[in-house]
Amino acid sequence: MHTDLVAALDIGGTKIAGALVDGHGKILVRAQRPTPSQDDGDTVMRAVEEVLAELTASPSWSRASALGIGSAGPVDASAGTVSPVNVPGWRDFPLVERVRAAAGDLPVELIGDGVAITAAEHWQGAARGHANALCMVVSTGVGGGLVLNGQLHPGPTGNAGHIGHISVDLDGDACPCGSRGCVERIASGPNIARRAVEGGWRPGPDGDVSAAAVAAAARAGDPIAVASFERAAQALAAGIAATATLVEIDIAVIGGGVGKAGDVLFTPLRKALSDYATLSFVQRLTVTPAQMGTDAGLVGAAAAALAGQASATSAGV
Ligand SMILES: [Zn+2]
Repeated sequence: MHTDLVAALDIGGTKIAGALVDGHGKILVRAQRPTPSQDDGDTVMRAVEEVLAELTASPSWSRASALGIGSAGPVDASAGTVSPVNVPGWRDFPLVERVRAAAGDLPVELIGDGVAITAAEHWQGAARGHANALCMVVSTGVGGGLVLNGQLHPGPTGNAGHIGHISVDLDGDACPCGSRGCVERIASGPNIARRAVEGGWRPGPDGDVSAAAVAAAARAGDPIAVASFERAAQALAAGIAATATLVEIDIAVIGGGVGKAGDVLFTPLRKALSDYATLSFVQRLTVTPAQMGTDAGLVGAAAAALAGQASATSAGV
């Protein structure tokens, strides 16, 4: 049988998704389970195995030649282990070994979820055709990944491009990661909402205090909501400008729930970028919303599986 497909897993704190994906990024078969994130490690792994069992039961499974995993991080791609912050039962969990055993010994590639989304945007989305790009997910947390010289740059452990934990405020608030003033501590959805509430913004009758509700208020002209988005935009701009200055990216792609806020985020973000990205070689830097939807994690994991396969072939393995 012709092996023209790859399998993909997207493992997050709320769901575990799996798919069989073709060489154009099209999803042919899918399976999904909720993540039992507060249960013990083996129970979480059983949910992964159920997703894999659905995929391996498909008549198309025999066409799959490799499997890519994008997982919530931190991951350690060199060790094949994951320690997702939101899945406490998995600490240095040997995910690659367990998935390989459940998937009939297919070759397995592991990357962090920020790197997976970057792979998807570079293959099919807003970063397509860009040799040097930063892709970010701004939602509950802030993650990201890098494309350098036309190649995904996961770094030795699969975490490179983790812009959420670059400090942009030297004496800023303590971040759960242990540092201070991180981009995530200022620009994540929960922090946009927290800052608005602390500043005196009050939700409507529905009591919605999410970042999406703050975005709606900002669009309606509420000055506190506008200010909270401006502060988030400033933090993102400082992190993006630092990245561009270090490695000469020419585009930053922003996805995730906060990335969907539209002009209330992107207008102050472009203005703040012009304040921070000042040297001649970063002045052409553009920032744009992500194009890949909820399947970005799966498509990116598939891209990693295909890339791993290509490098194995060129190495004569
Ligand atoms: Zn941090």
